[in-house]
Amino acid sequence: MMRLFNTLTRREEDFAPLRDNTVRMYTCGLTVYNRGHIGNFRTFVCLDVLRRALKYQCGHAVRQVMNFTDVDDRTIAGAQQAGVPLREYTDRYVEAFLEDAATLGLEPVEETPRATDDANLRAMNDLIASLARNGHTYRSDGSIYFRIATFPAYGALARLDHAGIQPGARVDSDSYDKEDVRDFVLWKATRAGEPTWDYGQGPGRPGWHLECSAMALRLLGEPPIDLHAGGVDLIFPHHENEIAQSEGATGRPFSRFWVHVEHLLLDEEKMSKSLGNVFTVPDVARRGHHPSALRYLFISTHYRKQLKFSWAGLQQAEEAVQRLMDFLARVERVEGEDAHPEVQRRVAAGRAEFGAMIEEDLNTPGALGVVFELVRSLNSAIDAGQVGKPDANVIRAAFDDIDRVLGIVALRRQEDAAAAVPIDEIERAIAERAAARRRRDFAAADRIRRQLADRGIVLEDSPTGTRWKLAGRGGGA
Ligand code: AMP
Ligand code: ZN
Repeated sequence: MMRLFNTLTRREEDFAPLRDNTVRMYTCGLTVYNRGHIGNFRTFVCLDVLRRALKYQCGHAVRQVMNFTDVDDRTIAGAQQAGVPLREYTDRYVEAFLEDAATLGLEPVEETPRATDDANLRAMNDLIASLARNGHTYRSDGSIYFRIATFPAYGALARLDHAGIQPGARVDSDSYDKEDVRDFVLWKATRAGEPTWDYGQGPGRPGWHLECSAMALRLLGEPPIDLHAGGVDLIFPHHENEIAQSEGATGRPFSRFWVHVEHLLLDEEKMSKSLGNVFTVPDVARRGHHPSALRYLFISTHYRKQLKFSWAGLQQAEEAVQRLMDFLARVERVEGEDAHPEVQRRVAAGRAEFGAMIEEDLNTPGALGVVFELVRSLNSAIDAGQVGKPDANVIRAAFDDIDRVLGIVALRRQEDAAAAVPIDEIERAIAERAAARRRRDFAAADRIRRQLADRGIVLEDSPTGTRWKLAGRGGGA
């Protein structure tokens, strides 16, 4: 069973979904006013590994929502500066996010709502109506605020000192100081030149916090949801406010577990757009690095510890991934026909230890330690001639299984396939194979097919000819 550190209780607890073996999970997504930086992606990669662990290690189904914040102070300012409509402006960065997410091997999640989708704006207005009915709101200068004094549990997640909470002062900005506890805006009165919507609460636009509460409740069903996650900077005020809104409206607990990923730092500071100390995923690729190495770097430190980014660290990650790939290639070249039960027992024990590490609050550095210990031990066994083809099958299956959680090897294979085989080369090989088959040289035809498969290119024959695709991906010609 998974154990997760729950920010709400500040303890590690057993985690299982409440209903239907399905984890209902909400991840705060990117604010699409810019291309996401690798700090953002540290959080998204760690939460992708959590998602995979819940599915492939623990055997749960997952229904995950990850939103795009496509209306807030920053997106509006960005669109105004660029002189384009808000939706057109944010479209670019939604696109860029999806591209980078695929590059880093993130599994697509079930729902990626945008705050300005019609159904979501409607849900936000309905949420405000419920909050108003329950006496949690007031209006001022055309904006609607949440009155913190009406919600005694306010501050429970962030562990705010109640004596210090001074209700009554208002803030309608989407960002706050860390210690700032003031009534927050739910719906902001329209200002000149800003986009505006009216779904019954008067013309205006949603506050950032409201967006996530409404989308989570709309798409994940009856609260409490099982798990809500994001980076640590979101604990206060964003998640605190989400709890106040959701619980104030429904009268029920909002989320059973809260999981927060620590920051990626550059030069001792949080990597952030506002500080200007950012790299993007394309920046990393332009420097000749594999995205799979970046993914490795992100999970080589526990998600609740800060991680200092450096190019030297990324280079070490490259070497670690290469060691793993070299080992797996070596396993494919094993020749003997004998089985070695002792080797197979060692593989099974390693697989179990890996799982135990993952289930211990997603201890990915510990899990990687197990993997490399197993690699070392199996390399020695191969040196000693103690690994045969039947053992190789067992090793391959175990590492495939492990990689469903980590997502490193599959990603590297995709990268190699994409980089290694120019399309005209693939097409030439397909033509040669067709010629070989015409002259009934099936051995040669088969050899060509296998050579392509080794480089990640899969052929599919049909009555109309041969198509190809990258292993583990769609696409092709
Ligand atoms: P934002 O686009 O600012 O709403 O952030 C999207 C996600 O990235 C949130 O979960 C943030 O907590 C997270 N995030 C932002 N900066 C960093 C960083 N330097 N390291 C890790 N996560 C971050
Ligand atoms: Zn959120």
